Amino acid sequence: MDHLPIFLNIRGKRTLVVGSGVIAARKADLLLRAGSDVTIIAPELGEELSLLAESYKFNHKAEALAAKDLDGCVIVFGCSDDDAINRALCEFAANAGIMVNVADQTDSCDFTMPAVVDRTPLLIAISSGGSSPLLTRMLKARFETTIPAAYGRLAEFAGSYRDRIKAQVPNLTRRRRFWESMISGPVAEHLFSSQVDEATTLMDKLLTETAKEGDEPPDGEVYLVGTGPGDPDLLTFRALRLMQQADVVLYDRLIGDGILNLVRRDAERVYVGKLPNQHTVPQEEIGQMMIRLAQDGKRVLRLKGGDPFVFGRGGEEIEALSENGIAFQVIPGVTAAVGCASYAGIPLTHRDHAQACVFVTGHEKDGKLNLNWKSLIQPRQTVVVYMGLSSMGAITQGFIANGADPATPAAIVENGTRAGQRVVTGTLESLTAKTKAAAIKSPALIIVGSVVNLRDKLSWFADSP
Ligand code: SAH
Repeated sequence: MDHLPIFLNIRGKRTLVVGSGVIAARKADLLLRAGSDVTIIAPELGEELSLLAESYKFNHKAEALAAKDLDGCVIVFGCSDDDAINRALCEFAANAGIMVNVADQTDSCDFTMPAVVDRTPLLIAISSGGSSPLLTRMLKARFETTIPAAYGRLAEFAGSYRDRIKAQVPNLTRRRRFWESMISGPVAEHLFSSQVDEATTLMDKLLTETAKEGDEPPDGEVYLVGTGPGDPDLLTFRALRLMQQADVVLYDRLIGDGILNLVRRDAERVYVGKLPNQHTVPQEEIGQMMIRLAQDGKRVLRLKGGDPFVFGRGGEEIEALSENGIAFQVIPGVTAAVGCASYAGIPLTHRDHAQACVFVTGHEKDGKLNLNWKSLIQPRQTVVVYMGLSSMGAITQGFIANGADPATPAAIVENGTRAGQRVVTGTLESLTAKTKAAAIKSPALIIVGSVVNLRDKLSWFADSP
């Protein structure tokens, strides 16, 4: 992140706006709405500021800006048409250690002002860090139309119950569940239609019921979720929904940041991939960890690259859950073969090329590839090899040694569906050397078959150079 988004409490605190135009008025309006003690420094108030003076009280100083004007200010704004004045403000602010914002000059700013969707006490602030104000405005417009005005009412209503709920429902997990049923259930529905009395009755009932459940943690559950090969847009709706309600998330290195960022912010994150000493957390331990967490009442999200049941050991991980009577769900994901093929413009089947498609693992066991070559080398069939990068030479040689035409088209897709996607094409004979020359790294997937030639016509996703 280039900026830290925060919400400042400036009620009763001093702020300074230098300038008299529309921009100064807009900043002053926001500051006054947030309850700040605002001073405007300008020879005279412009039209907009004069209008603002009809609804709010603020100080106006007509004399030139001086360093002492910043005394006691928490933040200051330069909105003058005169650059020299804004520069002077920046200098005074720097000397006094006060954060400054200069309109339309991101470089001179300690902070930028977001576009705001105001559903007080609910606030949404949107920023592009100054890189595209148009995009922020478009997003703001979208939120304005999709978030009902009543959300503010909902937040306020919830706030009025906070202390009581904390006292009557001491268990944190139960409390979280309580809020979830309130926000996505009939209480909220009534509030949205302004039926506050009905909402209050239902809320009191929900609270009494929850308080009766006692202080024991509720039943936990495990969600084994396939996240696809990397592009967050390929997640399923169900995956996204479960990601939003998990208490703990277990992930490994195949899960990109784009996807992790969609997991509920306050969910606890546990990395269970390769450790610095190159050892992976054993599968059994992951299974035990999930059982322990679920028994504590947690909703445990286990994220898996691609699909959990395709070379994902998903089956092994949930076996132990079933033996221990823990509830679980398995959510499919776009497996790497399907995602990489689409984004590389290589159809896995095609009436003129292949009527079958086989997924195999190229992972060597005890230094040996254990593949059924006869079943792989078949006419009109595409073969996709997962985990085949390190044994690539042995794989392509194996194909040829067992009778495949060395000129059979083959491709390797690195980082499929992600911003760093690279695709190298060649033949069984040439691909290994080309892959080395391009320094292809994991994760990478090998595709063998004449469908690879279709990429020349069907490639659509811009690869990384
Ligand atoms: N369950 C996963 C596969 C896990 S095995 C799935 O269904 O996709 C890990 C292997 O998947 C990697 O070695 C690589 O061969 C492949 N893979 C996963 N993500 C990939 C990606 N974004 N690009 C290329 N290959 C990928």
